[in-house]
Amino acid sequence: TSDRIWVGIDLGTSGCRAVVIDEAGRELASARTPLAAPLNPAPGQYEQDPELWWKAVLAALTELATALPGRAPVSICVDATSATLLLARADGKPCGPALMYNDRRAVTEADLIDRAAPTESPARGPSASLAKLVHLSGRYPRDSAALALHQADWIIGRLTGHPGVTDWNNALKLGYDAERLRWPDWVSAIIPDGIRLPKVVAPGDPIGSLDAGLANRLGWPSSVQVLAGTTDSTAAVIAAGAQEPGDAVTSLGSTLVLKILSERPVTASAYGIYSHRFGDAWLVGGASNSGGAVLRRSFSDAEIVSLSLDIDPERPSGLDYYPLLGPGERFPRNDPDLTPRLSPRPSEPRDFLHGLLEGIARIEAEGYGRLAELGAPPPRRIASIGGGAINPTWTAMRSRLLGIPVTSAAHQDAAYGAALLALHRREQ
Ligand code: ADP
Repeated sequence: TSDRIWVGIDLGTSGCRAVVIDEAGRELASARTPLAAPLNPAPGQYEQDPELWWKAVLAALTELATALPGRAPVSICVDATSATLLLARADGKPCGPALMYNDRRAVTEADLIDRAAPTESPARGPSASLAKLVHLSGRYPRDSAALALHQADWIIGRLTGHPGVTDWNNALKLGYDAERLRWPDWVSAIIPDGIRLPKVVAPGDPIGSLDAGLANRLGWPSSVQVLAGTTDSTAAVIAAGAQEPGDAVTSLGSTLVLKILSERPVTASAYGIYSHRFGDAWLVGGASNSGGAVLRRSFSDAEIVSLSLDIDPERPSGLDYYPLLGPGERFPRNDPDLTPRLSPRPSEPRDFLHGLLEGIARIEAEGYGRLAELGAPPPRRIASIGGGAINPTWTAMRSRLLGIPVTSAAHQDAAYGAALLALHRREQ
């Protein structure tokens, strides 16, 4: 057995998490550093100083290096939130704050992109990286060429000292064509003069060695490799153990998000469905407006736990709910007027919760049905992640309704997925 180790870093919305794993995928150490909430200067606007990300990453790496003295990783892989974008100078210095994943200010830019982009492009909309790039290019006077970098790309640039490379998962919402592996002409035509698009490589591909000064500071050799990263949700799917077509991952967070590995990409913009390249396969995903947020409106997490103990997952609730916070659904039904169905409401809270859990599970089943109808394989097993994944009653209920094995994923954590991505690249 070898004593080689690998590091995964996840830069999420509330903090940075970093883990060290060994060749068997065992987690040897982890660190978590907080990140302040992004600034919210106006409704729909969210921005953050990238230096804060760097501080969080550096603190986490320092903690790992201290936890495992005398051991250095073979490589480091970083994932971060998708569609968080900034412009930086050639040396990596930010031109200004990054626009966060949920920033929606680039509305006029999105209209312009809408006219040029193919209908099915994931780069449409004010939250996509492409609209943010066009917006930022108008915001900063430039004396030299500015680089467009996603959150993970910028961190990787700091780690290596050489910014300018991204991966094809992060690049998807910047308009990159992950099937033909090139920037389409319509994207090149939209990019304003003086903006440089990053070079795109496969997630996990080696990008360069760790900056010598940084390596020295961490007590590591500068032979440590920095690999191309991925998006946080793709890293979470890797962590959850999805490997083969038919392997699915359901995220039971505030919203219900379905992902399944498929031999071919599936895209259906009407349903908000798009596909990430994932090894030799494709990761097809769709997001419903239903999910845990509807549970939280009526129940605390503790109430959900205790009431669930009294629900028999083998017995139908007799209720036919479509739980939503308000009207409108995109997937599995594309109906902007779909009204929530939450009646009749039984007097017992337990029975109401039963109906809600079952309603969301039925939307999950309908969702995988929709993905299959559009060309994805039917799910053969589902690993669950997110707040609802810890609920065994719900897991059993979902397994009954879907007719396949449903489990709670052994690893929920995107940082672990990034570390696995690094480990899987060890032979190359
Ligand atoms: P987010 O998408 O906001 O990151 P989380 O993954 O943290 O969400 O999940 C939070 C959601 O999980 C909440 O909406 C809550 O209702 C739900 N939740 C928490 N505990 C349970 C539980 N035991 N069973 C089902 N749902 C739960």
